[in-house]
Parts: sequence; C-alpha cells; structure tokens
Amino acid sequence: MKESIAKLEETQTLTKDEWTVLLSHRTDALTEELFERACKVRIQHYGKDVYIRGLIEFTNYCRNDCYYCGIRRSNRNVSRYRLNSEEILSCCHEGYKLGFRTFVLQGGEDPWFTDQRMTHLIATIKQQYPDCAITLSIGEKEEDSYRLFREAGADRYLLRHETFNSTHYRSLHPQELSASHRQQCLFTLRELGFQVGSGFMVGSPGQTPEHLAEDMLFLKNLNPHMVGIGPFVPHHDTPFAQEKAGSLELTLYLLALLRLMLPKALLPATTALGALSENGQQLGILAGANVIMPNLSPLENRASYSLYDNKPNTGTQAAENLAQLRSKMEQIGYQIVTDRGDSLVH
Ligand code: SAH
Repeated sequence: MKESIAKLEETQTLTKDEWTVLLSHRTDALTEELFERACKVRIQHYGKDVYIRGLIEFTNYCRNDCYYCGIRRSNRNVSRYRLNSEEILSCCHEGYKLGFRTFVLQGGEDPWFTDQRMTHLIATIKQQYPDCAITLSIGEKEEDSYRLFREAGADRYLLRHETFNSTHYRSLHPQELSASHRQQCLFTLRELGFQVGSGFMVGSPGQTPEHLAEDMLFLKNLNPHMVGIGPFVPHHDTPFAQEKAGSLELTLYLLALLRLMLPKALLPATTALGALSENGQQLGILAGANVIMPNLSPLENRASYSLYDNKPNTGTQAAENLAQLRSKMEQIGYQIVTDRGDSLVH
C-alpha cells in the first residue's frame, strides 16, 4: 500500500488494480501519512490559501429524476422557487461586498432558463462584475448552448460525472440519462475553453472500490481544473431514503488521493462534507482541499434547495458568516483569500 502511495506521488498514476487495492484497504496509519503528503503537495502549488466561491442556488425546478436527489421532479413535497434577475444580481451584490470574486450559479435543469435568458443573465453579471469569475452548474446541455454561455462570459462549469461505471450510473438515474452523455458534456465544455469541474458522490448506493477506481482513472484522463467530491447523504423523499450515507473517512481519504493524482487541481471541501461533521470542511482542507463554497442564496430559499437531508446552510456554510469561516480556517493555519482563485491546470 505504501508503495502505491509513493508511486502515485511520483508518477500521478496507478493501474485500476492498484487503485482498487488502495481504496479497499484503508488504515489509519496510511491515512495519516497520506494527509501529510497531500498537504505538502497542495502547499507547494497553492500555499495555505483557501479560495471561496459564492454559491447562488437560483432554481430548484428540475426536469430530471435522479434517484438520490431531493429536488428530483417526482418529489411533490419540495416548494419550488426560481430567482429572478434582480434577486440573483442582489446575491452578487451582497457577495461582492463580502469579498467573493467567483459566483457559482447552480440549479436544477430548469427549462424556464432558456439559452436566451441564461446568456442575458451571464452577460449582465459579467458587465457589472468584470473582475469576477462566473461558474455555471446547470447540468447537461447541447454543445451550442454551452458555447453561447461561454461567449456570454461564463468562465467555469461544474458537472460531476457522478460515477463513471455505466451500470452503476444506470442504477442511480432513470433510463433517459447516461454516463456516456454526461462524460461527453465534460469533454465538450473543456474544448470550449471552460475551466471544468467534475467529481462524484462517495458511498452512493451500490458503489464498490472498483467503481471508485474507475472514477479515479476517468478523472486522470479528463484532467479537470477542479474536482468536487462529497459523501452521498440520503434524502427522505427519494427512492434512496433508506440507504446509508457515505463515510466522512473515505471521502477525506479520496480527497488526499485526488490531491496526489492531480496536484494542481482545485479541490473543494464540499457542503456535504460539512453535513456529516461540524468540522468536516476543516478536515477536508487538512486532507488537501483548497476551496470552500459558502451559500449566498437568499435566506428564504435556502431550505428549499434540499438536495439531501440536513444540508447545512447556516454557520460557516453561510456567506454572511464569512468572518466565522475565516477564523475556523485560521485555527488550522490557513487563510481565506479574496481572489478569483483560478486553477493552475491548463
Ligand atoms: N443540476 C446540476 C446540479 C446538481 S446538484 C447538475 O446536473 O449538475 C450538485 C450535486 O449535488 C450533484 O452533482 C450531486 O453529486 C450532488 N447531490 C445530489 N443529491 C445528493 C445527495 N443525496 N447526497 C449527496 N450529494 C448529492
């Protein structure tokens, strides 16, 4: 196992078998050593800076029906909302004052937001905040739509591949969605000049170490600018209500492995990590992560963007409490910076 970690650090690659073994034989001693190495590599490239992104969850309408997600279209118990342009711009205004220089527009796949409405929104934000990066996270679209978004001024796109394995993907999504289409979108986005973020859920129902090994190989091949991973957390109104949540320990272990495999990638300590433990995000940083995405959505809508149960949106997860997050990072020797925080990956 130790040899595999040394090989990974030296060559940034492992075979599928090596990954599978490493992912199914985690020990505390190994983990500790791994975190140390991951932090060293992260410090080498990014120092002890933690980048922040203001997350604006602008619509929870969704035409998709992913079995794990609380805002899936079949869930009749969600109160649906969509923000209008003024509301979104006022989130940006608040965020800018707080020091955010990246706005992440995330939502369900909401047909109301046509290409025309999206490009108008992107161009308006870009015009008002030319020194800020705009990140989109609105799912699978046609290449032409992605191109229009890019031309309107969007800089980055987050689209987790969720799981590489097509059979596993099938078991998490309805028939009309496929692993290969989602993966194709990522390559398209990259070609169009977006900084892309991919990623997966840890501990999603049916996930095996082999699946995770395939996820790592896929990410190596894609070489994304960012990788977002977080534990699967069940939502009570979904077909996966009774499933077990993914583990904090395995997520942290994977974060550190990602740091060694893709040394220059941006790695967020995700909200879902914070859902499992009060200190989840601090632990994420100590495992090699370097980005945090506090919630900048209007207070009255936050509870309705319920991807999973107990999704945190107060305390250090709330953009308005940035001072609290800052001090939590300082406690562990890191500092929040006001910066676009672009990826070093080309
Ligand atoms: N509609 C957009 C945004 C999806 S929400 C898209 O298709 O990309 C962002 C991420 O939340 C998803 O990619 C998924 O990985 C994660 N997510 C959804 N439900 C979850 C759950 N129950 N537990 C943990 N993460 C979840």
